[in-house]
Amino acid sequence: MGTYNHIESALIHGGIYGDEKTGAVNTPIYQTSTYMQESLGKHKGYEYSRTGNPTRDALESLIAELEGGKAGFAFASGMAAIAAVLSLFKIGDTVIISSNVYGGTFRILDKVFSHFGISYRIEDTADLNMLETKITPDVKALLIESPANPLLTVTDLAGVARLAKKHGIISIVDNTFMTPYLQRPIELGIDIVVHSATKYLGGHSDLIAGLVVVNSTGLAEQIHFIQNATGGILQPFDSFLLIRSIKTLGVRMDRHVENAVAVADFLKSHESVKQVYYPGLPKSQGYDVNQKQAKNGGAMISFELTEGHDIRTFFSELHLVALAESLGGVESLVCHPASMTHASIPKEIREKVGITDGLIRLSVGIENIDDILNDLKNAIQNSRRNSK
Ligand SMILES: *Cc1c(COP(=O)(O)O)cnc(C)c1O
Repeated sequence: MGTYNHIESALIHGGIYGDEKTGAVNTPIYQTSTYMQESLGKHKGYEYSRTGNPTRDALESLIAELEGGKAGFAFASGMAAIAAVLSLFKIGDTVIISSNVYGGTFRILDKVFSHFGISYRIEDTADLNMLETKITPDVKALLIESPANPLLTVTDLAGVARLAKKHGIISIVDNTFMTPYLQRPIELGIDIVVHSATKYLGGHSDLIAGLVVVNSTGLAEQIHFIQNATGGILQPFDSFLLIRSIKTLGVRMDRHVENAVAVADFLKSHESVKQVYYPGLPKSQGYDVNQKQAKNGGAMISFELTEGHDIRTFFSELHLVALAESLGGVESLVCHPASMTHASIPKEIREKVGITDGLIRLSVGIENIDDILNDLKNAIQNSRRNSK
């Protein structure tokens, strides 16, 4: 425990800081599968690295501290983390998910957990009154993203936490888009936070990882049991990389958001842009709620060009901003949700929830803002139909 009062310091000094044995300021990479035992039943707290590993422990205690939870758990991917959380439920249980969540979250419920008799329903979680009427006795959890992927729909997290408590069910927030630097759902009463740490927490598009944080010792015991039993753990080297990345999260997010605000303003005032989705824009859906529960609007923006533009040409005319899946890295990335991140959602459902074929999702990086804006400006100009 260091002496600090702010999250910028916790990012660097939080969890288990440094190495007691040598004084190294960084937690060593304990690249080991097993641990020598002194005698039968006598060991130093570690027996086998699926169950526990000191490098993973350092990361797990760090994310627990940052999210203000009781315990943290590190997994091989965001989906492994989500799978572990969904393993809390059993045949006959239903999970309500936000109407736009990550495509993989929809897919694992629709195609994997359905085999075990666990159902899901998609609801507009932004409307709390409507949501409460959907909590039938089979509903055991609410799984929310705010802002949600890819339309950046904002849900009132404290409101969701209240509803869940009132009905004795579990509230789960996928906090990937915001990170604990911008939003801490557990402080708002949420039970479980999940992360694809592949995104902002990793921050450099060079690793795949997932995290879970829980608000009670009961849930901590259950998730630890599931983590050890199903085995989708994060490796020591990747745990080290993630600790290293999280140290710079504050400065990276500040620049991501500063650039995103400039990009959102640019798009909003551009005659070729039909619609901009960004929770940091005053008058956007849920702006006030987001301001209340998060530091700012984050750095993800979705938008649609007017009919006069060819979206294929737009993507191929971008030269700095890369066309790629994923988000949250230092480099600006753009994607087409309908054919990429959300392709696993059937077209009828996509259209119903507003993920149109014209939707473009932008993860604003930390490059120089003028370079980002120039690239977007040129690609919009060159994608004009009939422009020669
Ligand atoms: C990427 C992502 C996931 C899945 O995480 P992986 O690390 O790719 O397995 C889950 N939720 C959100 C919001 C994501 O963006």
